[in-house]
Amino acid sequence: MEEKVKRIGEERFLVKSDEDDSKYYEVDLALPFCECKGFYYTKKPCKHIKLARDALKKLNKHTGHRT
Ligand SMILES: [Zn+2]
Repeated sequence: MEEKVKRIGEERFLVKSDEDDSKYYEVDLALPFCECKGFYYTKKPCKHIKLARDALKKLNKHTGHRT
């Protein structure tokens, strides 16, 4: 099974769309930014940004990385 969240950069992720399995939204946690319509209209952290944050937290836990 494919991962729902893919890391593509230091704080950049691709998060799979719930509506379309072939679509990924690009998320940048540094800004934060997401290219989905929900974020575009509300400018509030959407579910993709939250998923990416969770993924980053888990990754940092696994590697013991500290900021
Ligand atoms: Zn989004």
